[in-house]
Amino acid sequence: MTRRALPRALGSSYRSDAMGNVGETSITCAVCGRESRQRQVRGTGPAGPPDLDLRPGETMRSTMAYWLQQCPTCGYAAPRLDEAGEPIPAVVAGGPYRALLAEVSYPPLARRFLCRAMILEETGELHAAAEATLQAAWVADDTRKADLAREWRLTAVALFRQGPAPDLEQQVRIVDILRRAGEFGGAAAQASALERGRLPEPVDRVVAFERRLIAAGDVRAYSVASALPPPAARPHVSHRGPTPGIPLTRGSAGGGGLFAALRRLFRRR
Ligand SMILES: [Zn+2]
Repeated sequence: MTRRALPRALGSSYRSDAMGNVGETSITCAVCGRESRQRQVRGTGPAGPPDLDLRPGETMRSTMAYWLQQCPTCGYAAPRLDEAGEPIPAVVAGGPYRALLAEVSYPPLARRFLCRAMILEETGELHAAAEATLQAAWVADDTRKADLAREWRLTAVALFRQGPAPDLEQQVRIVDILRRAGEFGGAAAQASALERGRLPEPVDRVVAFERRLIAAGDVRAYSVASALPPPAARPHVSHRGPTPGIPLTRGSAGGGGLFAALRRLFRRR
């Protein structure tokens, strides 16, 4: 297992652990001006294939707690607290954001992603807001909050659809998000819309795989590798084997998306 070199940062300390290089650094909040200690991850170990909704595989999967920083004073949530665009302080000070911060029934990490989603939605970045909302759903999965996971998945799909027309890759992903939410009718309709066009291989396999899951009423998570032929037909690939080269992209699925992940797996057949 290889590790990236430890970054050199004045005023920061880094250690290497199972999830990569986790560092702690002092950072000044661009919204309220208060300083706080924040942890960051600078690189992960080898990355397995993502889920079909692009939730990263391990080891990046275990680093979600480090994708966003949150100011303990004002509650601002961002990949970097020392950066904030002009409209953001007003969003953070606003009633809806304060109410969200006070919503103690949500898992704290999910709340952090939802805070980020609210900022992104208010600043017009609807697809990024959808991503952050989906990330909150992943936290709900991990904390066994099925109702919240379903609600946030449906919100994520709505945000994807409110933004610019989703590209083919996002449309395939929306099938999976709807299926995971138990919205089988909506997932099937999205799959049908895709099948009316010409789907390149191996995207057609993913849609066919989703079709089978929808027919079976299956809401479970599957990795991208599951949609491809079984490992027996691909002797060089283990089911969730390592796929090197997925860079750490904090706050995103990393690795360049669904099609890039499929291409990586296909190349290794
Ligand atoms: Zn602050």
